[in-house]
Amino acid sequence: MAEREKVVKLNRFEIVVCSRCGSVKQENRWISRDFKEIIEDMVLKNAFITEEFEVKDILIDLKSNLVIFSGSIAGEDVSVTEQLNFSIKKLSCPKCSKEAGGYYESIVQLRAENRDLDEDEIETAMEILGDVLEKEKGNEKAFVSKIERKKEGVNIYLGSRNIGMKVSKMVSKRLGGAITESKKLHTRIDGRDIYRFTYSVKIPEYREGDAVEKDGKICIVKNVQSGKGVDIITGKTVNIGKDVVAARREEMKGGVVVNVDESAAEVVCDDGEVVVTAKPFGAEIGSEVKVFEHKGKYYSFLKDL
Ligand SMILES: [Zn+2]
Repeated sequence: MAEREKVVKLNRFEIVVCSRCGSVKQENRWISRDFKEIIEDMVLKNAFITEEFEVKDILIDLKSNLVIFSGSIAGEDVSVTEQLNFSIKKLSCPKCSKEAGGYYESIVQLRAENRDLDEDEIETAMEILGDVLEKEKGNEKAFVSKIERKKEGVNIYLGSRNIGMKVSKMVSKRLGGAITESKKLHTRIDGRDIYRFTYSVKIPEYREGDAVEKDGKICIVKNVQSGKGVDIITGKTVNIGKDVVAARREEMKGGVVVNVDESAAEVVCDDGEVVVTAKPFGAEIGSEVKVFEHKGKYYSFLKDL
């Protein structure tokens, strides 16, 4: 090992970091990267190595702020230690600046027909929102500027129109319901009209497991996405549209069929009440059923219909 005069010169450098999200400015882009990787990158850019020194390895020690360059000069092993000298400048990246300024291009309005939203529906929408934002990480406009929870539903304010569109589509796909798009003139920039878009998702009144009345028949909702249900008497699949909810799933109670003939079933409910209902599809003595009341009549259906 030989000591040489200045075969390496490591210049001082500056790293620009967003104080809100921790992303780093490189050239003209803001990216989120591992801190060590950024330092490595900056060392490579700011190290000036003489031609005779063939560097084979650069070791960065962030604890002692030292960089060790090892290699050879004219066949002789050489290692040079340089002081790592950098400063960190904290700024707010454009994405965080917009976010902090309350900037938004679209609103996703989540509502339910004739009822409040369920907690699990809100949770599903938030999960979808998280997934979409995660996938769009590099997008400068991929942020939420505000979430409002109102009595009538949830409003999500988003930095991008496109993300509002994506989120509303995915929510309606998962929870059912139609999307209505509307726009409002927000401002004019360079003679161009800038709009804000609202994507209103109205999810159906019924949820999976609820009973609806369709043309006088009672059906259990099986799939909200496809709008499919099952007739409790015939066991046939039916399409559900804007049908009236006959019973909410949480209003139903469990029971066991104790007697059955061609048209009726006698059911002992979990709370001890004995009721007579029309014979549900597939019922036998001992079948486990769910029971509910609708317009003064009792109905039952197989638990695993
Ligand atoms: Zn930021």
